[in-house]
Amino acid sequence: MVKLSVKDLSVRGKRVFMRVDFNVPMEERDGQMVINDDTRIRETLPTLELLIERGAKIILAAHLGRPKGKREPSMSLRPVAIKLADMLGRPVAFADDCIGEKVEKTAGALKDGDVLILENVRYYNEEEANEPIFAEKLAKVAELYVNDAFGAAHRAHASTEGVARIVAKRGGQCAAGLLMERELKFLGDELENPSRPFVVILGGAKVSDKIKVIDRLLEKADTILIGGAMAYTFKLAHGVKVGKSLVEPDHKQTALDAEAKAKKLGVNFQLPTDTVVATPVDTGKLNKKGKPVYDLTNVRTVKGDIPDDAEGFSIGEETAKRYAEIIRGAKTILWNGPMGMFEDARFAGATNSVAQAVADATQKNGAKSIIGGGDSVKAIHMAKLGDKVTFMSTGGGASLEFLEGKELPGVAALRDK
Ligand code: ADP
Ligand code: MG
Repeated sequence: MVKLSVKDLSVRGKRVFMRVDFNVPMEERDGQMVINDDTRIRETLPTLELLIERGAKIILAAHLGRPKGKREPSMSLRPVAIKLADMLGRPVAFADDCIGEKVEKTAGALKDGDVLILENVRYYNEEEANEPIFAEKLAKVAELYVNDAFGAAHRAHASTEGVARIVAKRGGQCAAGLLMERELKFLGDELENPSRPFVVILGGAKVSDKIKVIDRLLEKADTILIGGAMAYTFKLAHGVKVGKSLVEPDHKQTALDAEAKAKKLGVNFQLPTDTVVATPVDTGKLNKKGKPVYDLTNVRTVKGDIPDDAEGFSIGEETAKRYAEIIRGAKTILWNGPMGMFEDARFAGATNSVAQAVADATQKNGAKSIIGGGDSVKAIHMAKLGDKVTFMSTGGGASLEFLEGKELPGVAALRDK
């Protein structure tokens, strides 16, 4: 399922419609929208520089926020155009719409190597509806199509799917950008035939979020390490008490089925043996969303049953040590979901130890380490190990669906090699 790459296209003098992920966090300061984190813009630079160097006429389409079909001025891509021009060190044109005559005229006047950003495609409801007439209008300026927005590829929207289909029907080529290509390589090909031992670390909040991933990876992995709140559903399924912990009683059977499958396939399936817990005490206050605020008191580590008044927030140190040892011997590592509520420093220790082990395996054991999931990537950054792992997905929800083995519409629309 290797997809055509932007590197394979002959783009000189051609109008390349490129879908990018410019959904950057913004904030209003003195009446102006300011970009808080430009990582997503920076990440598109390699593909853009390649296209510029090869003389393409580049038309960028993206969404920002959720304007729900309205021209919401705070969600305009204009500040992104200014930022991109700054990063590229060359002018970037901006069209205050994504379809229509004006856009066509501006696109038609582009010279080789020029860059144009279209206004937020989600100013139109037709974008998310993948409405065919809207997609045709978007596609009017496109001769070739490139998708570098892996994080939006799990949705069949006009700019992620509709335009590609139209371009392909006209005989134009549709290819993956360099970012997209890397995502497909690491989340796809590398895990298809992994070097062994292949260790999968799964955590996060819910079993129900991850069960499809567990199910699929059980068929590939040598070892699966379970952490995070997900572990409490497994505990409960074994008749162990979980106190006030986040748990999904409806998924006890799901958990047992996963363990049974692991046994059948000879997968080493590991569960935590100790838990960091705290006792929540109601402060009588409400947060912004009107929910009660709890103080988490008496942080301690327990084995076996979690006391009735306590809530679990992380795997314990003993479990983290055991997991770290296994991880250090791995040749391929996939990590999806933190080992605890790492956002609170009191519960971040085990997640950090696991992150360190992943980094060590990569640096000292020559392992390939692949991190999927928005919060897992945050955890790696918090541990300051971002440059010590092989690959961190930018995909969030899209990477989860891809790991489940689903075909993403935005990927399916690209041409196979
Ligand atoms: P990812 O985004 O990497 O796929 P998830 O979204 O599945 O990960 O899970 C991340 C969230 O799970 C984090 O916000 C973290 O605080 C929470 N979490 C992990 N362990 C626990 C726990 N024991 N109790 C409550 N929340 C937890
Ligand atoms: Mg998440």
